[in-house]
Amino acid sequence: MTVLRSSDQTKFDVLVVGGGHAGCEAAAASARMGAQTALVSLRLDTIGVMSCNPAIGGLGKGHLVREIDALDGIMGRVTDQAGIQYRLLNASKGPAVQGPRTQADRKLYREAMQRELAATPNLAVIEGAAGDLKLEQGEIKGLILEDGREILASQVIITTGTFLRGLIHLGPETWPAGRWGEDPANVLSQRFEALGFELRRLKTGTPPRLHTGTIAWDRLEMQEADEVPVPLSFMTDKIEVPQVACGVTYTNPETHKIIADNIKLSAVYSGQIDGIGPRYCPAIEDKVVRFADKQRHQIFLEPEGLDDINVYPNGISTSLPKDVQQAILKTIPGLEAAEILQPGYAIEYDCVDPRELWPTLETRRQKGLFLAGQINGTTGYEEAAAQGLIAGVNAALAAGGSDRTFTLDRSQAYMGVMVDDLTTQGADEPYRMFTSRAEFRLQLRADNADQRLTDLGLELGLVGTARATAWGAKREALTQAKTVWSDMTKTPNQWAAQGFNVKLDGVHRSALDMLAMPDVAFEALVTVEPDLDVARADVQRDLEIQALYAGYLDRQQADVEAFKKDEALKIDPALDYGKLSELSNEMRERLSRAKPATLGAASRLPGVTPAALVALLRYVKKAA
Ligand code: FAD
Repeated sequence: MTVLRSSDQTKFDVLVVGGGHAGCEAAAASARMGAQTALVSLRLDTIGVMSCNPAIGGLGKGHLVREIDALDGIMGRVTDQAGIQYRLLNASKGPAVQGPRTQADRKLYREAMQRELAATPNLAVIEGAAGDLKLEQGEIKGLILEDGREILASQVIITTGTFLRGLIHLGPETWPAGRWGEDPANVLSQRFEALGFELRRLKTGTPPRLHTGTIAWDRLEMQEADEVPVPLSFMTDKIEVPQVACGVTYTNPETHKIIADNIKLSAVYSGQIDGIGPRYCPAIEDKVVRFADKQRHQIFLEPEGLDDINVYPNGISTSLPKDVQQAILKTIPGLEAAEILQPGYAIEYDCVDPRELWPTLETRRQKGLFLAGQINGTTGYEEAAAQGLIAGVNAALAAGGSDRTFTLDRSQAYMGVMVDDLTTQGADEPYRMFTSRAEFRLQLRADNADQRLTDLGLELGLVGTARATAWGAKREALTQAKTVWSDMTKTPNQWAAQGFNVKLDGVHRSALDMLAMPDVAFEALVTVEPDLDVARADVQRDLEIQALYAGYLDRQQADVEAFKKDEALKIDPALDYGKLSELSNEMRERLSRAKPATLGAASRLPGVTPAALVALLRYVKKAA
């Protein structure tokens, strides 16, 4: 089922190359901003494909999805049409670190994504392979496709994932590919090199896919979905997709022995792979070597769809030869007879050093050229989509001739944390989002992404009418509830008379203060004061979270304000650091290379000294 039709149009405002997670979000964002946009991808039927695990969200990643959604992005909405096993991760911990996640039916996801794109005004799709950038006198003019077609635009966003000089490894065998069954994109890599971009090799891997009918499900521990699924999008009221369980099994010493005996056949250990792999998503052979004392590793058996025979064994990504993969499965309870439908493999690919980018995700070397997704050294669908949205908005702004740019800082969003990490620190290994990367975690919660970002999206013209209306109603309900709960104050004696255990210290307390007390429940307050009742569950939850973090949130706000001071000090991108006599040669070199956008960003560059920052501060203040 493909609802997308390739367009013959040859002139646009913005071109997006690649219909993966970054590309879909970039194209949709650019089109929502009103720019005439085309998404150019190798095959229309693979637009919205999940290359690896069939799941969206999780710790840190769920936050990104909610932020994308708050800006009216599409990933959350699409996922909610495909989610088959919702689980709120860290549900027993504080709201700041809870991560909404769901396994997704691959086919439903792809179809929903394609429907969403087909229904987006200002957006065309073009089936074709982007061969090269069309450059004239150093200016971007569009793209040249491999079949010779030329498509014109002043802004181009490249989101080619693992396709740049992609090389698959399966045991000792290697072959060029962008991912299983698809050709790599090699000319674009050469173009980046010719433009002087720093490229590096990274790698990632995927497990074998197993036939569901050959797994002994009845002998496995099963993990059910949450009873009440928490949607990923603020716009979804109810999940209609049927929910399924996944199986859980474990490797054992026998499995580990087979892996150890064959380790030299793994592309990762034979010396065949140069690229650096994801630290937090290691291959099973990596886990066995690095954690040699561990007796077992957990494997989640995730169905790839409601009517799909493929099962994704999450936890045993590998590049060992297929016969060794089969031998490994034979040792694992429940998988003894499992048939491999597609072997696991590793893939090495080129990515661009993300320090080559401005925080808008436009490249520093080539105006009008933006990069988003795995090409910037990240790993994961959510990280890719979040970058796509930022690049899409900025490309549309630039195409419209606006001086304005769209960036988020570390106190506003995980998206801001990620872009700042990438553009100041680079990515020596595949970068994945975690809640621990954010210093203002209490404020950057998945539940309040709309409160943090939707007004900003509205102001940019990025948010459509349906969300504007829904958010408007929620904002009003929140404001009203907060006013009622803060305005209702009583003396300790009055609260005590209503049955609350409160210190008789003469201090007037609001209903919100009372809610912050560990033994006072929302319902108890509403029972004695019906005026406090709120109709919306999300508003109640927000009041409870405000109360839970009372005091901490104020303290963090003070930290945010201190942080903002440095972020507000912008540094001219054209500043010649060579002329700052107070800087040492080393500092001049580091700063000229990184061209930090703000004093805050300069302070986060590796190796930049406090003395250099003071010199820079003096200069920035003088220049202001
Ligand atoms: P992709 O989703 O890869 O999309 C790239 C798009 O570009 C595709 O639509 C492709 O057709 C198109 N394209 C490429 N070249 C051209 C061209 N020249 N012209 C036109 N179109 C082009 N992530 C994890 O978080 N954990 C993992 O364990 C993990 N393992 C992975 C294992 C494998 C084997 C692969 C391939 C990926 C894995 N990933 C993993 C990564 C995850 O798939 C990516 O992070 C995510 O898909 C990146 O999104 P993207 O939009 O940047 O690129």
